[in-house]
Amino acid sequence: MPRAHATAAILSIGDELTLGQGLDTNSQWLSQQLVGVGIVPVQHATVPDDLNAIRDAMLRLAAAADVVISTGGLGPTADDLTRQALAAAMNEPLAEDPAAMEQLRAWFAGRGRRMPEANRVQAQRPHSASLLQNAFGTAPGLRALLGSAGVEVFCLPGPPREVRPMFETQVRPHLRPAREVTTRAVHMFGLGESEVAERLGDLMTRTHSPLVGTTVSGGVVTVRIRHEGPGGAAAIAETENAVRDLIGPYVFGAGVDTLASVTLGLLRERSHTVAVVESCTGGLLGALLTDVPGSSAAVRGGWITYSNDFKTRLIGVPESTFAADGPGAVSRECAQAMARGGLERSGAGWCLSITGIAGPDGGTPEKPVGTVWIALASRHREIETRRFAFAGERANVRDWAARSALAMLRFALAGAGGLKMLRQAE
Ligand code: ATP
Ligand code: MG
Repeated sequence: MPRAHATAAILSIGDELTLGQGLDTNSQWLSQQLVGVGIVPVQHATVPDDLNAIRDAMLRLAAAADVVISTGGLGPTADDLTRQALAAAMNEPLAEDPAAMEQLRAWFAGRGRRMPEANRVQAQRPHSASLLQNAFGTAPGLRALLGSAGVEVFCLPGPPREVRPMFETQVRPHLRPAREVTTRAVHMFGLGESEVAERLGDLMTRTHSPLVGTTVSGGVVTVRIRHEGPGGAAAIAETENAVRDLIGPYVFGAGVDTLASVTLGLLRERSHTVAVVESCTGGLLGALLTDVPGSSAAVRGGWITYSNDFKTRLIGVPESTFAADGPGAVSRECAQAMARGGLERSGAGWCLSITGIAGPDGGTPEKPVGTVWIALASRHREIETRRFAFAGERANVRDWAARSALAMLRFALAGAGGLKMLRQAE
């Protein structure tokens, strides 16, 4: 019986990582996947493109965990040394795998390209190692056993778009978690993390089973529920229901749901459409919406009316709005004129507008940096307008503004009484 995988270590390989030119997102993603199946990541290591450094790290990590996963350094160039380092760690020579060589040739032939001689090394493996198919690149991965304890090592290429599918299809089926773990993530928007914690109360004590914790990203608070042992599905469902009861309409989804995907789902269910008119967010809202596959069914398009001139010429905001004695570009009047103008011109059923001061300059005592007006116009109801006061730097203000606009639309579509509760400053 091979040993169970209670713990894992992750090795990231590449000069670009140690020199700070690239961000190691693979470790984060892989750790999340491992935690999800019940394996505890106990170490992350990052080493440059150096054969000895990679070999030493592999041996050290294999002594510290039950399974090691590396990413990077499987390419065809002279600085790609993971293959050689694994062979050195295993004390085995590298030899060409004829079947892999065939696949490599076929990969290039299928794209009408001649295979560069340099790529030949990608068909090599230590003789007791096996190759892992890579449907999205030329470099196959490697799977081997290291050291006298026979610790399993998986070597994957560096690009995240190759790592992710390869983990799912080539690594995960070989993992043997020591215990059964079931997890669930419930997402909410409109409450701060501490307000969520307050509402959840005793659910969040460290002795509660299942374990309940929160994380926050871009204003979205995620409640993570984790159960160890058998009976996970029922225990998680019970806790999830309790969370939903305590948080109410702020909960917008779970698992892979995002604020944008859920909002689009609601639009599509109703065959409704949306347009956007953005000033301080410069297209962020449109980007969030169109990030979702299939968004064309509901998103008509939008305008980036950054200057007053564009607000007037493209969307019909009255020039008087910007006069010395007018309300100005950051005002209820301007946000409403933008949303109405966009609604008329787009023919969409809903139109969201955003105008505000993202900073760092441009604030005044009456309209400090972070002041943002959002309006939601609709064919079906009265226009809604909110003034928000977002804290933080420029990127934060813009991000919060775009997400709050989405949240306004979601509340309106879901018919939840939550809109009035959405955090605002008056
Ligand atoms: P390739 O066949 O593309 O050369 P490779 O296995 O040689 O793959 P690297 O050359 O090490 O991989 O990395 C290729 C790219 O993958 C890097 O430029 C970087 O953009 C990305 N990458 C590498 N490691 C990581 C990491 N740990 N996190 C996120 N991205 C990474
Ligand atoms: Mg490389």
